[in-house]
Amino acid sequence: MSKIKQGFFYLFISLLAGSPQLHAAEHQHKEHEAHVHGKAQLLVALEGNTLEIEFLSPAMNIVGFEHQPAHETQFRAIESAVETLKQPGLLFGLPSAAKCHPITVQAESPLDEHREHEQDHDHSKQASHDHEEETHGDFKVNYGFRCVEISRLDSIAVKIFKKFPGTEVIVVQSISKQGQRRIVLTPDNNTLEL
Ligand SMILES: [Zn+2]
Repeated sequence: MSKIKQGFFYLFISLLAGSPQLHAAEHQHKEHEAHVHGKAQLLVALEGNTLEIEFLSPAMNIVGFEHQPAHETQFRAIESAVETLKQPGLLFGLPSAAKCHPITVQAESPLDEHREHEQDHDHSKQASHDHEEETHGDFKVNYGFRCVEISRLDSIAVKIFKKFPGTEVIVVQSISKQGQRRIVLTPDNNTLEL
């Protein structure tokens, strides 16, 4: 279990133990929202001197399609998107006073990135293949930062909207000592206050 999931899990347990409102706790625990084009999700967890961010987005927002790539242009679109996703500095603006440095980046693509795999598609990789006419898939990227002055980490400028203009709304769930919050960001309101 990743640290971020553990964080939500333990928060859930403590909510469950401390609150008679079981239903409310279950509702708050909802980690992943429905796959909706234009909508992405961020899970943000602060613990000790680490910041963990999980970014989950329909491939549609990232590359403009969700089927396996069929030609050179689509392969290139995926490669370039993954390259961008692996550079947290392009997607998140952290206050320099917090002195945060990325320590891990783990990207999962629902689409084939490499041409040599073209002949042997592994369709099980498509997380939400629904056997309907349309295929859906999500990019999932986990970022870990270590921050020397984490108490100075009071906001995150989310630059995902600019890098991936197909993104219209980002639902953020953040967890820190202050508790759990759910915030909706848009291109005009793209700063997450912590
Ligand atoms: Zn989709």
